[in-house]
Amino acid sequence: MEKKPMLSVAQALQTLLQAVRPLQEIEQVATLAANGRILAQTQYSTLHVPPMDNTQMDGYAVRAAECQSGQARLPVTQRIPAGVIGQCLDAGTAARIFTGAFIPNGADAVVMQEQCVSEVEGDQTFVTINHVPQSGEWIRRQGEDIKSGAEILVAGTRLRAQELGLAASVGLATLPVWRPLRVAVFFTGDELTMPGEALKEGSIYNSNRFLLTGLLQNLGCQITDYGIVPDNLAATRETLRQAARDHDLIITSGGVSVGEEDHIRPAVEAEGHINMWQIAVKPGKPLAFGEVRRSEQSNVGDHAFFLGLPGNPVSSFVTFLLFVRPFILRMQGIQDVTPISYAMRADFDWKKADRRNEFLRAKINQQGGLALFPNQSSGVLTSTVWGDGLIDLPAGQTITNGDMVSFIPFSGLLY
Ligand code: AMP
Ligand code: MG
Repeated sequence: MEKKPMLSVAQALQTLLQAVRPLQEIEQVATLAANGRILAQTQYSTLHVPPMDNTQMDGYAVRAAECQSGQARLPVTQRIPAGVIGQCLDAGTAARIFTGAFIPNGADAVVMQEQCVSEVEGDQTFVTINHVPQSGEWIRRQGEDIKSGAEILVAGTRLRAQELGLAASVGLATLPVWRPLRVAVFFTGDELTMPGEALKEGSIYNSNRFLLTGLLQNLGCQITDYGIVPDNLAATRETLRQAARDHDLIITSGGVSVGEEDHIRPAVEAEGHINMWQIAVKPGKPLAFGEVRRSEQSNVGDHAFFLGLPGNPVSSFVTFLLFVRPFILRMQGIQDVTPISYAMRADFDWKKADRRNEFLRAKINQQGGLALFPNQSSGVLTSTVWGDGLIDLPAGQTITNGDMVSFIPFSGLLY
């Protein structure tokens, strides 16, 4: 039916990624406040972790060679809690030692306290070592985790709790990160009403506002929400002009379907330029990509990017994950934008081949296979809540129960 040939998902994505202008401004933020941010410069360690050989157990530091009888009895000549530096261990003696404490010179093994018996004779404590330790036993070696000079975090990494812990372990109190991407959103459709307001006849609630806000927050974007913009050209142009002023990207939902009575296309055309795409994807298909001019001088280039998503909530969701997410990741300096996918067994039949690449909402079942949500319509948001992810079904293919399919979990698409 369509006159224009459809773009494949890969073609559309390639065009988008080629247009990206990555962020240039770096912020130095406290490591404690850097969760979710994207590292702008590779980080190296200036020290060994652990800094010195230390004990992994509470017990006794000994010379292993002196304990080969399996019942060596040694005077305990010092006590070394974590944080205290012990004396050199004299031959024929043992040191009481506690987890994390540095191993004293002279000692080459730790025997855990459960394998030792201590007794006091006068003012001297003795320990019997009921074990034959190997040299190095229960010792965590200097630099075993990180060697001084080693690369610990690569530029372009999204910082999670574990990256922050690693940075802190080498003493990094602040980290250089890209400034957050500034994204403006607005919603078209005179039928839209906000939750909290009564639903008038013919109206629906603006679910996309919540959906897109959540998705953008997950990606660490700084969001300005212009709300529902009335379906007229002047209001749409005015909002675009305002949004372009200090945002990197403008995202809208609705009004990009073919032949629709709407103002997105003429408004973006008047304020910049726009391409209306038909993509061979289901749900999804329409997507608008363009740029909006900035009237005033700006330090973020002379255009803001524009991405117009379809209004149907599931279409909006899927197009965001397939196209907007990788675009935003690249703008933030992340190279690898391909979502993780797994080959999994489909425990259902799907007999209708489509000429578009379908993304079916599915759930992992108790048998380790995939179950399909029964209603795959692009308006049924329930499918996205029920599901664990998307099956990426190439154009023209069907699925027979037991086939292996490519499954993209939602968990891998959160950021
Ligand atoms: P459109 O892309 O404007 O043709 O809209 C397609 C469908 O999505 C219509 O049924 C709209 O009512 C619905 N829709 C548009 N915008 C939203 C929104 N923000 N939230 C929920 N549904 C929407
Ligand atoms: Mg509409």
